[in-house]
Amino acid sequence: MTPLAEILARQIAVTGPITVAEYMAACLMHPQHGYYTTRDPLGAAGDFVTAPEISQMFGELVGLALAQAWLERGRPDPFVLAELGPGRGTLMADALRATRGVRGFHDAMRLALVEVSAPLRAAQALALAEYAPAFCDTVDALPDAGPLFLVANEFFDALPVRQFLRDGDGWRERMVGLRDDALAFALAQTTRYAELEPRLADTQDGDTVETSGASRALAETVGARIAERGGVALMSDYGQETSLGDTFQAVRDHEKESPLAHPGQADLTAHVDFGALAGAAPCAASTVTPQGVWLERLGITDRARALARGLAGEALDTHVAAHRRLTHPDEMGHLFKVMSFHDEAGPPPGLEAR
Ligand code: SAH
Repeated sequence: MTPLAEILARQIAVTGPITVAEYMAACLMHPQHGYYTTRDPLGAAGDFVTAPEISQMFGELVGLALAQAWLERGRPDPFVLAELGPGRGTLMADALRATRGVRGFHDAMRLALVEVSAPLRAAQALALAEYAPAFCDTVDALPDAGPLFLVANEFFDALPVRQFLRDGDGWRERMVGLRDDALAFALAQTTRYAELEPRLADTQDGDTVETSGASRALAETVGARIAERGGVALMSDYGQETSLGDTFQAVRDHEKESPLAHPGQADLTAHVDFGALAGAAPCAASTVTPQGVWLERLGITDRARALARGLAGEALDTHVAAHRRLTHPDEMGHLFKVMSFHDEAGPPPGLEAR
């Protein structure tokens, strides 16, 4: 058992089963034993690789899309450039390098990073030292300095979800309890939930749906800021328009395993319910667009060709493979989706209003 498994088992023995969301929050965020609080999980030596770590093109195109949105809004000065869960700071470093030539953009920006992990904050401070980023614990703490231009890649999939199995016109919540002193899934009694009533129309007996209160609260805060101050938010993640099915998963050393196997030592995620995010935000949102389509619209193939000219041998092979990995429907091109929140000036380039 991991140290966190022992702590959770003792707690459950005393106070009873916990929800999947409570379990996920403890595994990812426990101050001493949480997955994100104790390590840098990214990259070849870590547990998973993200789009900005695969190729510099991802961050470059995000940067140019946000800069274009800034230009379309008449170059507001100052404005807040923010990232939620910036990982190693790679995406933002690439975005800022790509936008150096956009006159006035860097001078007007107040860079703010929302990050919980101490090891990752240290990596971000190093990668972005020349831009003097402000660190925030939560989205509510973002500086109030004009319109907001925000990006969040593979952030919402780390926020806790609850799971409900449909049983007639009610739902049985999936819980984490104990069986023979070990952590085990169990189902709570059938209950009706007001927030799940609309899902009776598009699900059947035995279906699972997931809800993320933390994601909805965040979407509401970001959307309220955009409604009030203007700007755009770009969110990219594994997910779909509407939650359906059990997508709660654990990855450790690039391998999938049971989410209960190594609490605190595996990355836990669930697919993002983009429709729920759009519904929670008090501002306009875009349609949910496959990442490959979005990157093609932003010109990734031209950028890939330009970069390829300077490469040969293994470096060229790696670059070609990275382009394919980001865009091809069999790789990240279709499973990953992109959605924006935006003000009256409309969605950032590559996306359409819903
Ligand atoms: N965006 C990066 C990293 C993705 S991993 C990339 O694409 O490479 C998820 C990131 O979100 C990590 O930086 C993690 O520490 C951070 N994170 C997870 N939950 C968080 C929370 N509740 N608040 C702030 N940051 C969080």
